[in-house]
Amino acid sequence: MKKYKICLIKGDGIGPEIIDEAVKVLDAVASCEDFDFSYEEALMGGCAYDITGDPLPQATISSAMNSDAVLFGAIGGEKWDALPREKRPESGLLRFRKELGVFANLRPAVVYDDLINASSLKPEVVKGVDLMVVRELIGGIYFGEPKGREGDKAYNTMVYSRDEIVRIARVAFDIAMERDKRVCSIDKANVLDVSQLWREVVEEVASEYPEVSLTHMYVDNAAMQLIRDPRQFDVMLTGNIFGDILSDEASMLSGSIGLLPSASVGSKIGVYEPIHGSAPDIAGQGIANPIATISSASMMLRYALGEQATADKIDAAIKQALTEGYRTKDLAQFDAKEVCSTSEIGSIIANYAVKCK
Ligand code: NAD
Repeated sequence: MKKYKICLIKGDGIGPEIIDEAVKVLDAVASCEDFDFSYEEALMGGCAYDITGDPLPQATISSAMNSDAVLFGAIGGEKWDALPREKRPESGLLRFRKELGVFANLRPAVVYDDLINASSLKPEVVKGVDLMVVRELIGGIYFGEPKGREGDKAYNTMVYSRDEIVRIARVAFDIAMERDKRVCSIDKANVLDVSQLWREVVEEVASEYPEVSLTHMYVDNAAMQLIRDPRQFDVMLTGNIFGDILSDEASMLSGSIGLLPSASVGSKIGVYEPIHGSAPDIAGQGIANPIATISSASMMLRYALGEQATADKIDAAIKQALTEGYRTKDLAQFDAKEVCSTSEIGSIIANYAVKCK
């Protein structure tokens, strides 16, 4: 029997509660498959600082490197806000992504039919939305040189090399092959030289994927189209800063932060995590929504472990729980039949996932 080694980083705030539910669902689906999971817990964030004096202990990097994938909860909280920048939980996470070399951030935005009223857009606009933003994560204007400040002048540089564009474009096209086979590449090629190279290289990569259709869109238009008609998109391929903005915009289509997963991939080990933070305001109360984390576990099965059919079962189980009217407190006002605790909805999804064909 195959055994997948998962590095679990629960983190701070609601992190432990939501990771426990994702593990519950993973163990449930594994019970009817020919694979199993072993978990190794590692520390990161405020809890790591409290114990070791470092928000990212070396042991955590080693544990992640020796695993098949990392499932991550959330880090941070007021308790650690006054620490110097390098000791703060958030620095640990940024350093972690860099150490692992994850250069592609995947952010799906799905609108569940049963939560259509949770979106701030009209139901007829968002019904059926299912898109994926593929954002370059460790290049572009956030990292380009030169950068600096000289008195009243300050500057950053948007730089991309051919190799950086090729590798992120391949991630987007590979994902499109598993989806609806459509990539829309976002740039500002009417103004920026770096975008002209981006467009040129994306076209070249597209020729390796004859089944995938490629379109290009300027970023300002894309921001507008995401609100006007989000269903037109399947995979949106973007550089770092454009993707940062567009993925947050796309995530609001679904209406709740507690639903949305993400993955940071591209190197040997990927990191799978909800898009939300550690929600200290609700930690320890058993009311956090674990769906974003369970959905991140599904992404882990799909993209890191190649267990697509099992990932489909988890996705179907989440949908079924929502269709049956089970809601955590954050979604209680949207057609809830029963308001559940974190652990109750985790168990419901685990039970459905086992039954899903
Ligand atoms: P947050 O995402 O933690 O919370 C924002 C709001 O959404 C809160 O009202 C919270 O209760 C609610 N919320 C978030 N997740 C929820 C869930 N699963 N179920 C129900 N409600 C949920 O953002 P914040 O309050 O700005 O930040 C809190 C801490 O988290 C900060 O220290 C911040 O730095 C950190 N943070 C960490 C990450 C990460 O670990 N990747 C990401 C963002 C923020």
